[in-house]
Amino acid sequence: MDKENYDLAVIGCGPAGLSAAVNARVRKKSVILLGGELCTPKLQKSPLVSNYLGLPEIRGSELREKFLEHARLLDIPIQQVKVESVSPGNGGVFSVQAGKKAYQAGAVIIATGVTVNELFKGEREFTGKGISYCATCDGPLFKDKDVAVFAGASGAVEEANYLAAFCRKVYFIAGAGQRSDVDGLKPGIEVIHDQVLAVKGNDFLSLIQLEGRELPVQGFFIYRDTYLPDRLLEGLVLEDNHIRVDHDYKTNIPGVYAAGDCTGKPYQLAKAAGEGQVAALNAVQYLDRPG
Ligand SMILES: Cc1cc2nc3c(=O)[nH]c(=O)nc-3n(C[C@H](O)[C@H](O)[C@H](O)COP(=O)(O)OP(=O)(O)OC[C@H]3O[C@@H](n4cnc5c(N)ncnc54)[C@H](O)[C@@H]3O)c2cc1C
Repeated sequence: MDKENYDLAVIGCGPAGLSAAVNARVRKKSVILLGGELCTPKLQKSPLVSNYLGLPEIRGSELREKFLEHARLLDIPIQQVKVESVSPGNGGVFSVQAGKKAYQAGAVIIATGVTVNELFKGEREFTGKGISYCATCDGPLFKDKDVAVFAGASGAVEEANYLAAFCRKVYFIAGAGQRSDVDGLKPGIEVIHDQVLAVKGNDFLSLIQLEGRELPVQGFFIYRDTYLPDRLLEGLVLEDNHIRVDHDYKTNIPGVYAAGDCTGKPYQLAKAAGEGQVAALNAVQYLDRPG
């Protein structure tokens, strides 16, 4: 496995993550910015931003480009990867896992935004008991079993194909109204255009309730743009489904900070950028602590 070492790893490259990375870089820290595709589809989709100080009327896509340009000017490396987990390692170094790569950092800032979608009914209950967010990590546990993949983000096709190599049956739930990309799916994978209403079972998941039918499965792999933050990092304390932080944007885990929509409402650009800055300055102080 490839490993890279940095002072700070920032997870999520929306306004909060970009602002955190820029501020830590200005303070001369080595930073890696790990973000999903597009560096925030939210900003890209915003037709007109009229409440960002100093830029009275600007298209979201233009503002996003300005943010990215700032990061590029400071030579901040941006990797378009989805982070799967963060684990505290030896000597206070965190290991940030994304696919086959691990990034080591002395401090971490989580800036992963929020999912607009609600969780599926029963999702929390069956997480780790049939529900997974990473086929590469958990897929082999479902050898010869029936599984479904929820395609709420890119990468779902590759994950479904991977599962099809050893699972008995793979369903690909591409959503009801929207047409998720199904190009490249292996033959034999059943594509379903329907809405997930709930997941059910006793001790373990056994059924996905769709609007139009029921799927008896033992495994359900869910792909969304954003993971639940406490799934990224075990032991991270949430409050109302947001990451609990103090005034320094510290989480309950020393060395881990959070900023932006993931810490709570209002979901706004200036709040995200401001919190990214405060989190970065405090992370820098943490990295410079004596001893
Ligand atoms: C259509 C629309 C219009 C808006 N208009 C305005 C406006 O006019 N004014 C205003 O103030 N606000 C507006 N907002 C809100 C604003 O866009 C958000 O508050 C802001 O983008 C939040 O920034 P963030 O960095 O916290 O999160 P996000 O912008 O959501 O960025 C989070 C990033 O983290 C990435 N990520 C998530 N999980 C992972 C992972 N595991 N690994 C790697 N990367 C990950 C995501 O892919 C995403 O790119 C608008 C939002 C929308 C949707």
